[in-house]
Amino acid sequence: MMQQFYPQIHHDYRFELNKDMHFSAAHFIPNEDAGKCQVMHGHTYFINVTIGGNELDPLGFLIDFKQLKDLIHKKYDHSVLNDHPEFQHTFPTTERLAEQIWKSIQDVLRTRDNRPVCLQVIVRETPTSYVAYRPSREDLL
Ligand SMILES: [Zn+2]
Repeated sequence: MMQQFYPQIHHDYRFELNKDMHFSAAHFIPNEDAGKCQVMHGHTYFINVTIGGNELDPLGFLIDFKQLKDLIHKKYDHSVLNDHPEFQHTFPTTERLAEQIWKSIQDVLRTRDNRPVCLQVIVRETPTSYVAYRPSREDLL
């Protein structure tokens, strides 16, 4: 299970928050090089998100755990990933999904006065396969 495995990232932030979540979604990769993945099929995706920051908000949060879950789970659970606007011009591979989850979260974090940053998104597609997305330094400016 995803929950038992956390690749560590090195950073200098005082606080680090991790949120696990999962959702069920279907996808297909419409290219003949994708083999069996050309046919629509489903996964239970396990997600781990790592947020870092030096400052807390007035409530003492880097960001509310529930806000992170609502953002990702409500968007993707029981959906066809290919139908989402962010996958109209790219295929919803595990890599692209991790990148898009990072973008959605970082867009919200940017609006917060305490300026937390999303340091890592892990997307586990199957018990034996996962992808980690980590932004480059410039992405966080
Ligand atoms: Zn798949």
